[in-house]
Amino acid sequence: MLKRTQARACIECGLAYGHPEFSYHAGRSENGPSYWSDRGLLCSHACSVAHFERRTREGEPMTEPAPNPLEQDWS
Ligand SMILES: [Zn+2]
Repeated sequence: MLKRTQARACIECGLAYGHPEFSYHAGRSENGPSYWSDRGLLCSHACSVAHFERRTREGEPMTEPAPNPLEQDWS
């Protein structure tokens, strides 16, 4: 069971979902984010890589693709 997240924002740098610099699937916010993990949203490829590396350092690497968070009921 996923823990409830606070605001939808990049879990690495805190960029708010909806910000123009957030990376969206096919470049359109209505398509959802391009990057995420089982812990939350990621705004960019750089943050995706940073998150992956941090998880590995913490001994809890991401082992499988997480489901699209916007297709889950988080609210
Ligand atoms: Zn970010």
